[in-house]
Amino acid sequence: VKVVTNDIISVLNDMAETMYDAPGIGLAANQVGILKRLIVMDCGLKTDDDHLEPNPIKMINPEITFLSKNFNEREEGCLSIPGHHAIVKRPDKVIVNYRDENFKQKELEADDLLGVCIQHEIDHLNGILFIDHLSRIKKEMILKKIKKENLNENRS
Ligand code: ZN
Repeated sequence: VKVVTNDIISVLNDMAETMYDAPGIGLAANQVGILKRLIVMDCGLKTDDDHLEPNPIKMINPEITFLSKNFNEREEGCLSIPGHHAIVKRPDKVIVNYRDENFKQKELEADDLLGVCIQHEIDHLNGILFIDHLSRIKKEMILKKIKKENLNENRS
């Protein structure tokens, strides 16, 4: 994305709406058939009294500039692979550079759920799914289940 147009803004807004409707905590543009480097996320923000507030983040041209050498494991799912979850091991901290809706250059350091979400969504832009991080056996198990589900769907 070289410039922010009204079109880009409305794509970002549509993506956020699709994500909240699903409901999910992140969405990459190519998941909805738009081949642009755009992602939206909302992992919430903890308030002082431990409540979760909405925290929508829209990123244009996100790029990871730092990956921690420490790893964490967390269960992940994906709107593109509905109904399937698996534990994925990823760096526990990232720094991401991106442009905001005003095309201003921004940098964000993230760990915990947001750190995972950023990696998961940027993976999508690069054609990688969370199951690609699993062992071959685990990945094939999930693919086999999806195949079976599709067969059953076609039958009914
Ligand atoms: Zn996903």
